[in-house]
Amino acid sequence: MKEKIRLALTAVLLMGLIVFCWKMSEKLRTTIEEGQETSGKAAEKQPLVILDPGHGGKDPGKIGINGAKEKDINLQISLEIRDILSEEGIEADVTRTTDERLADSQVEDLRARVEMINENGPCLTVSIHQNSYSDESVKGAQVFYFQNSEEGERAAGYIQNAFAKIDPENTKQIKANDTYYLLKNTEVPVVIAECGFLSNYEEAENLMTDEYRKKVAGAVAEGIFKYIEAVSR
Ligand SMILES: [Zn+2]
Repeated sequence: MKEKIRLALTAVLLMGLIVFCWKMSEKLRTTIEEGQETSGKAAEKQPLVILDPGHGGKDPGKIGINGAKEKDINLQISLEIRDILSEEGIEADVTRTTDERLADSQVEDLRARVEMINENGPCLTVSIHQNSYSDESVKGAQVFYFQNSEEGERAAGYIQNAFAKIDPENTKQIKANDTYYLLKNTEVPVVIAECGFLSNYEEAENLMTDEYRKKVAGAVAEGIFKYIEAVSR
């Protein structure tokens, strides 16, 4: 009798073990299939671009010869670029959408921007700024890239070429930099587009108009399109 009970128990245990193994293998198969599906989706996903309007809030950035505030021009151009990219199906994000910087102090603000960029891992980030110089005759948009970044240099080149098209007098060339905080501390390609000199009256006046800012935004977007096309080949 005892022998029979032992046999029955063993049989039940074995059955349980078989059911358990079968369930586990099914679960494993589903997990693998789900994984394949997710990676498939990732491959189809549009690349992300981050636009970074410099300054904001109590930090106006450069003040133009005509009173223009750099922070406002940076924001308007960045939002315009975002819209152009979105219309073309490219996912675009901005580090700020209002006249507020990301933290109280400048150091914390820059740190927060770097963190946002590194966390999201975009294929390209374009930080939008305006320049200023003691010689008022100096003008022309110019793009900076981190000196050790081949991708940054490439993206900067495409944007600089597009800038040259909107102002044939602009003979400025892309420039490598190894000191800017944003360029040094980001883990993905970042370029800084200085879209014009607020110390030059003509350029500062142009940058105050919607029409000219749209031209500038169009040029940056054109450079971004070319870069995405080149790296996704
Ligand atoms: Zn600036």
